[in-house]
Amino acid sequence: MKKLQKQDPQIYSTIKKEIKRQNEELELIASENYVSPAVLEAMGTVLTNKYSEGKAGHRYYGGNQIIDEMEFLAIERLKKIFGAEHANVQPLSGSPANAAVYMAFIKPGDKVLGLKLDHGGHLSHGHPVNFSGMLYNFVQYGVNEKTGRIDMEEVRRIAKKEKPKMIVAGYSAYSREIDWKGFKKIADEVDAYSFADIAHTAGLIAAGLMENPVPYFDVVSTTTHKTLRGPRGAVIMCKEKFAKQIDRAVFPGMQGGPHNHINAAKAVAFGEILKPSFKKYATQVIKNAKAMADEFIKLGYKIVSGGTDNHLFILNLGAKGIGGREAEQILEQIGISVSRSTIPNDPNPPMNPSGIRIGTPAATTRNMKEKEMRKIAKLIDEAFRNKADKKVLARIKKEVKNLCLKFPVPAK
Ligand SMILES: *Cc1c(COP(=O)(O)O)cnc(C)c1O
Repeated sequence: MKKLQKQDPQIYSTIKKEIKRQNEELELIASENYVSPAVLEAMGTVLTNKYSEGKAGHRYYGGNQIIDEMEFLAIERLKKIFGAEHANVQPLSGSPANAAVYMAFIKPGDKVLGLKLDHGGHLSHGHPVNFSGMLYNFVQYGVNEKTGRIDMEEVRRIAKKEKPKMIVAGYSAYSREIDWKGFKKIADEVDAYSFADIAHTAGLIAAGLMENPVPYFDVVSTTTHKTLRGPRGAVIMCKEKFAKQIDRAVFPGMQGGPHNHINAAKAVAFGEILKPSFKKYATQVIKNAKAMADEFIKLGYKIVSGGTDNHLFILNLGAKGIGGREAEQILEQIGISVSRSTIPNDPNPPMNPSGIRIGTPAATTRNMKEKEMRKIAKLIDEAFRNKADKKVLARIKKEVKNLCLKFPVPAK
């Protein structure tokens, strides 16, 4: 970054500080990860200079032969990973991808069935402050109060009563396997479109460790920067019969020119996913989440649904007398990032809910294993028990930093 340092020392210095923070602190936010040096390199290229409105092979600008070659590679790799009939790799991020999906299939005012937000759903699945909740008529299913899991008979009952045009499954804070076939069956019974948003678990599905909705569902969206370990962005996959309407909704419906440098980086990440080493990584992500959840249970904590099948779990701190926001702040003091999270039927408001969401994709990219996960759970518990003791927190922060320095993040 020599040129940047010379020309713009202010921005250069913020980037240097963020590099240091990422190296010395522990990332347990379930939606974050560290990309490889190759993915990072692809993002910082002159592909950003090119306008390529349209899709590969059909552009509204000249000079796109090479960009076409790159985009076709990204599409082919993605289709191979998930067994998709059709793929669009241009969505700029998860929320715009979902906007394009709704635009392709339904009209403003139409009814959509999704998971309650405080039960693990995403903003773009009908939250009133989000475009989805403003434009469409969202109705909701929830998780079972006792099990913390989705009850398919309950989903069927609500779907039959509400008769939605579309059913959305796939979540931001749900730690269990999803019955995609069951969802597709219900969607068929009520003549609704089936939409899977696999933003969180796509990497685990790509590795063959969780069920894949792509063979069953009409349309599937995912971000590329979470467990897929690619650049910030998203993709949409669908059945061939919906290819045209999806492509048109992405462009010209939602977006202008694609971000070619990012799409090249997506292709690089997909190339990494197609290698055997990615399956090893994804397997360890799940092992790590299970080990950490198990350690928290041993330490007397409650976990929503009692455990995890994937890369994350929700710690219910209600009984510990610590709010989600407070927990987030305590952990910030020891160099650990987590995100506050609602628990199903949370008695507290979303700004200070009763839980935190913990995920292992980033720590696993640093090569941490079960042993480190158990140690981290113990450090978090110790911090909670000594939340007012600055000395203890300072000592734990040092321990977290030492642990992090032993497991460097991938760097150029
Ligand atoms: C993260 C996420 C998104 C949105 O992704 P952005 O890139 O932040 O817009 C959409 N859906 C689900 C389920 C997510 O977890």
